[in-house]
Amino acid sequence: MSERFDAIVIGAGQAGPSLAVRLAHGGCKTALIERKAVGGTCVNNGCIPTKTLIASARAAHVARRGGDYGVTIEAPIRVDMAQVKRRKDAVVGASIDNLTRWLGDTAGLTLIHGHARFESPRTVRVGERMLAAEQFFINVGGRASVPAMPGLADVPYFTNATIMHVDFLPEHLLIVGGSYIGLEFAQMYRRFGSRVSVIEMGPGLIGREDEDVAVAIQAILEAEGIAFRLNAECVAVARRDNGVALRLNCAEEPREIAGSHLLLAVGREPNTGDLGLEKAGVATDTRGYIVVDDQLRTNVPGIWALGDANGRGAFTHTSYNDYEIVAANLLDGASRRVTDRIPTYALFVDPPLGRAGMTLREVRASGRKALEATMPMTRVGRARERGETLGFMRVLVDAETQRILGAALLGIEGDEVVHTLLDAMYADVPYTLIQRAVHIHPTVAEFIPTLLGSFHPLP
Ligand SMILES: Cc1cc2nc3c(=O)[nH]c(=O)nc-3n(C[C@H](O)[C@H](O)[C@H](O)COP(=O)(O)OP(=O)(O)OC[C@H]3O[C@@H](n4cnc5c(N)ncnc54)[C@H](O)[C@@H]3O)c2cc1C
Repeated sequence: MSERFDAIVIGAGQAGPSLAVRLAHGGCKTALIERKAVGGTCVNNGCIPTKTLIASARAAHVARRGGDYGVTIEAPIRVDMAQVKRRKDAVVGASIDNLTRWLGDTAGLTLIHGHARFESPRTVRVGERMLAAEQFFINVGGRASVPAMPGLADVPYFTNATIMHVDFLPEHLLIVGGSYIGLEFAQMYRRFGSRVSVIEMGPGLIGREDEDVAVAIQAILEAEGIAFRLNAECVAVARRDNGVALRLNCAEEPREIAGSHLLLAVGREPNTGDLGLEKAGVATDTRGYIVVDDQLRTNVPGIWALGDANGRGAFTHTSYNDYEIVAANLLDGASRRVTDRIPTYALFVDPPLGRAGMTLREVRASGRKALEATMPMTRVGRARERGETLGFMRVLVDAETQRILGAALLGIEGDEVVHTLLDAMYADVPYTLIQRAVHIHPTVAEFIPTLLGSFHPLP
């Protein structure tokens, strides 16, 4: 006999809990199934713990720079990694507790622990239990990809999930992958006191960003002592007496690099392989992402897919927005769409990169007439006052419509300030409106109107 629900949500990531609560409040008898900890990647081994660890790393960095500000610290700066981990665990634990309490307090919502697999388009199995519903919402997220590299099975390595258990200082951390996740960990561990080497097979870091942005970030990280090997593909890994060694396929010597510990940060893959999607008839693409339409419906009526698993976003805010879209369309009679969303995200190295809309490369490829404005952070008074003048800001606008096309703000508060431009993009107003706005002095955002007054045609 199967237990009947009106709606079943699989995965308590960034969309699932809010959707489950919303459905339950709407009178649906709802089940939320989670196989690990509620909160998914973001809460347990993604955004929240990494940004908490980054805060500890920054504290160490600022303490070491105390002398620049006239602050004398007599003893050498040491990082207590056990305390760093305890602090991270406390922040994560509080988030899990709040979420668990919220779900538990919601009438009409049942939280079920276990791994869900479809048995048919209208049933899932969780252990011995068979659950049936007319509507299913898949929010199963993703996990770190582990490449099929010879020797990897014989050496210990970290992913973004297992490195969360570290309460000691790795002597020399090798990080395979020079993109968003790899770089955040690289700077964090360097600031904790580890030697850090990043190995990237591409010709530059963060291949999705414009080259000058990636080069500037590399220079910032190199200045902190992080070593980079670009154009270097890891082809094999082997155990060494006191750590691991990676064999590289690259033009430059040395073709081997050894370290005490290894972190793999080579990309993510969706948790869709063990979900019984074939029994439900739900289509996936060649990489396993669930195919959805602009309103997040799968090819099977009554089944939606939200969050990283649908390949339409790779962030907490995109997953949460998926929830908003589905809830609004289903419960409020709206017709919201994924394509209404403007791409935006941040890379939380220090200083951070705040991004919105198109890159320079994408604008050029679009063939439209565009204007560009750039400003080094050295011009920003707030940055000078804080003694943190690394980076630059770029804004791109359409020469004909005067609409903002994209922005890359690499500099202190870039992750916050970018929202002034993002909101203007959502409001669909000409940039001249923001150019005439009066912003607070002395802030970084104060310079956005000035920046918008310095456009030149994009060659
Ligand atoms: C190191 C790191 C740092 C990040 N930092 C940021 C950041 O700063 N900002 C940002 O926006 N994004 C960040 N991200 C990305 C962000 O964490 C994800 O985009 C987000 O968590 C995706 O949410 P989701 O809802 O798709 O699923 P997830 O959060 O991945 O949750 C999916 C849940 O489903 C469960 N599940 C899976 N399969 C089943 C099953 N068959 N049965 C039951 N339960 C199942 C999983 O256990 C998991 O709890 C980061 C990611 C990483 C790895």
